Amino acid sequence: MRAKLFWKLSFTYLLLLLAVLAAMDLYATSAPRGHLVIAALIIVVLGSIATLLVSRGFSDRVERLKNFAGRVAGGDFRPLEREDTEDELADLARALNETAARLEATISTLTNERNRSSAILGSMVEGVAVIDAKERVIFCNQAFAEILSIDAVASEGRPILEIVRQADLVSLARRALQSGEHAQGDLVIGTISPRSFDVTVAPVAALNSQVAARAPGGESGGSGARQEVPRGAVIVLHDISELRRLERVRQDFVANVSHEFKTPLTAIQGFSETLLSGALEDEKNNRRFLEIIRDHAVRLGRLTDDLLKLARIEAGKLELEFHPVALADIIESCASTSLLKASQRNLSLDVEFPPGLPPVRGDASLLREVLQNLLDNAVQYTPPGGKVVLSAATRDSEVVVTVADTGIGIPLADKERIFERFYRVDAARSREVGGTGLGLSIAKHIVEAHGGRIWVDSAVGEGSQFHFAIPLASHP
Ligand code: ADP
Repeated sequence: MRAKLFWKLSFTYLLLLLAVLAAMDLYATSAPRGHLVIAALIIVVLGSIATLLVSRGFSDRVERLKNFAGRVAGGDFRPLEREDTEDELADLARALNETAARLEATISTLTNERNRSSAILGSMVEGVAVIDAKERVIFCNQAFAEILSIDAVASEGRPILEIVRQADLVSLARRALQSGEHAQGDLVIGTISPRSFDVTVAPVAALNSQVAARAPGGESGGSGARQEVPRGAVIVLHDISELRRLERVRQDFVANVSHEFKTPLTAIQGFSETLLSGALEDEKNNRRFLEIIRDHAVRLGRLTDDLLKLARIEAGKLELEFHPVALADIIESCASTSLLKASQRNLSLDVEFPPGLPPVRGDASLLREVLQNLLDNAVQYTPPGGKVVLSAATRDSEVVVTVADTGIGIPLADKERIFERFYRVDAARSREVGGTGLGLSIAKHIVEAHGGRIWVDSAVGEGSQFHFAIPLASHP
């Protein structure tokens, strides 16, 4: 079967040779000259026809193979039809069919792999980019493009220096490419709302024999010694803004707590030393000094209580006992608690809510604490002659409680921040009236633990309306 084609061609040429030999033989015999020429011609014509037929079939099949190779190169991997003949060309067709099938399988594996990688990279929140040894961007994912406000597609192939404005990022990439080692650093992007990123640049090492061959000393000679050089680098941007924010909050918190403790402690220390160094006998002042010491101790106690409560809430250790709660009862009881203080400050205190207020799902003592805090603030921050109104109403699937006052109001810029711990519009004034700056923060945690909301409407000099909404007990 092997050299079938060879035999076919040889056979045809043999036929031709025989024809020529026969003609020469006839020429040598005594056959009449006319017969001799005709016989020779017939033999030559028959031989030529046979040669033509064989070579035509041969060239058709080669042409088919050529077309098939062209098809495969263009990505059409449909196999060639099977041939009935058994020769080298049929073998070649089979081998090409097999190669095309393998090529198709490899390409589809690579395509799947590439689709999977780009799906993973595309869905990552981290910004990822790959650069080559010449600092050109080979690839960057959507997150990277969004973080740096660049066009992912247009950036490909361009030097990173051209598309990225962050000099720190470029120098980290350069350092990693030059040293062949990881480079890490921090990056702050944006000015109005800056975001912090942890940047890691990992060189992609590749075995590059050409570089090794050029290396001084030529140790590579013959043995194929190779040297690892970075062919590029992978840049990863990890958003650490929240981490940084929490770090800042923690630092602020420690600073605030120390500050809050310092004032009463200094006062207690100062007045007790004054008493010990003789003022104890000063009948005019000793009682007043002791009262000051007591007030500051009370304030310290309140501060510690609030801090412990806040710590418990934030650690998720607040034990809530949910029951149907009649907010009407809580409103009445808080109002009567504040009545005396309100009248001492020459304020009117009114309560307004419709009859038959439906029960909410909540922890009665914690909801009382929220309302009492809002009411104490309203009384505290409303000048004499003003008015405080406590009201409640059902809205959709919740009851909204409102504490309105005609007090000093809250500037727009501070509106959202007053629910942060220790945030006060006027810290000195708050401290003067015994505030800890933690009340609203605790209230917000409690309300949110009930699945509710708390917010404020206010105008400076006109007053504030604090609202909180708690879901109805009947609400699923
Ligand atoms: P504080 O113990 O200082 O009252 P809060 O957390 O209860 O702490 O309140 C935070 C800040 O919000 C207060 O210091 C005050 O500046 C502001 N505030 C709260 N309630 C009112 C109100 N009814 N009117 C004006 N400002 C208020």
